Amino acid sequence: MEQDLKALLQEHGLKATSQRLIVLDYLISHQTHPTAEQIHEDLDNISLATVYNTLEKLIESELVIAINDGSKRRYDYYGDPHYHVVNKTTGEIINVDNFDFRPLIEAAQQATGLTITGYKVEIYGIED
Ligand SMILES: [Zn+2]
Repeated sequence: MEQDLKALLQEHGLKATSQRLIVLDYLISHQTHPTAEQIHEDLDNISLATVYNTLEKLIESELVIAINDGSKRRYDYYGDPHYHVVNKTTGEIINVDNFDFRPLIEAAQQATGLTITGYKVEIYGIED
């Protein structure tokens, strides 16, 4: 596992520092969209400032995305494409992967001529 994570960081242009390995491993094993404070509480040997700096690097490398739930910034491993449905009744962010985004990416590319490098999809719903 550790070896795979090192390779994953390197493929995304990042040096595999111990903090990056620990934070990335945490996000892969916690699909709960934690805040930086929650990550820091669980990984109490890493300072909050280091958690923030590490998350910024992981976001730049597109391994992690930041999601705003309306009040807080939350973080998510994004190596496996999926979309988010935000339950506005409870604030929960749900991962869903039952949709093929390729037609959307191709349409965006055709419309703009840009090379698409990433995407985020958030859908909102309420409980009846
Ligand atoms: Zn997610």
